[in-house]
Amino acid sequence: MPTLTNDSVVPHTPAPADDDFLPGPVLLLGAPGVGKGTQAKLLMAEFGIPQISTGDLLRANIAQGTPLGKAAKSLMDQGQLVSDELVNQMVADRLAQPDVKRGYILDGFPRTLNQAEWLDSVLVADSATLPVVAISIVVSYDQLLHRITGRRISPTGRIYNVYSNPPVVPGYCDVDGSALIQRSDDSEEVFAERMKTFAAQTAPVIEHYRNQGRFVEVDGDQAVEQVTAEITCALKHLRQKAQKS
Ligand code: AMP
Repeated sequence: MPTLTNDSVVPHTPAPADDDFLPGPVLLLGAPGVGKGTQAKLLMAEFGIPQISTGDLLRANIAQGTPLGKAAKSLMDQGQLVSDELVNQMVADRLAQPDVKRGYILDGFPRTLNQAEWLDSVLVADSATLPVVAISIVVSYDQLLHRITGRRISPTGRIYNVYSNPPVVPGYCDVDGSALIQRSDDSEEVFAERMKTFAAQTAPVIEHYRNQGRFVEVDGDQAVEQVTAEITCALKHLRQKAQKS
């Protein structure tokens, strides 16, 4: 079960279906490999709101050879963070698009306290937006190492794992037969660096949102659909709570 902060408890029964449900801004927080991307895609389908992954946006910039991509590439390959200024601007541009009106899932942002404070100020300044709710996914270090070093991705974004979810033909996507890719930062060495970066810079962001309330921690070391069910349930209850406060 997810654990709510403060006095709240997530009920055992799912929240009632609500066609008018407005998800608003949702943060998916957690270390590299906890499943933020996988869960964001499932939530996107469930709630009809976009996933905004800063890692994906940066990789798209690298693929297109933009100045932002050029500035980001070597930092990403070393497991370091891209500067707050560049990432905040990239997120600001994305949030200016019309598809975010009912809400959106931020995946991999904020990753520093500076980014969190910037986001808070943007949301406070926009009276039309709901307050942010934050979900932190927690998975043990050893499990993360397996997930990261075993991860393979198809060009269309399908995620496999050579240990836990291998494709039928090694190296190729089950659905369209395309060659699977290993991210250049998914090596064991870069993973160790990314975890150090996470502990130093992103763990305080989780505490920041824990202290604000409207925060739930979910055990990510369970079947994918169970994690999604817990996040969905928690999100509906957090949103009810946020609308009352
Ligand atoms: P991800 O796909 O979320 O694991 O991100 C891959 C890499 O992109 C990270 O290791 C960072 O180098 C960079 N990155 C992604 N999101 C951010 C962010 N919010 N702030 C700074 N760097 C980021």
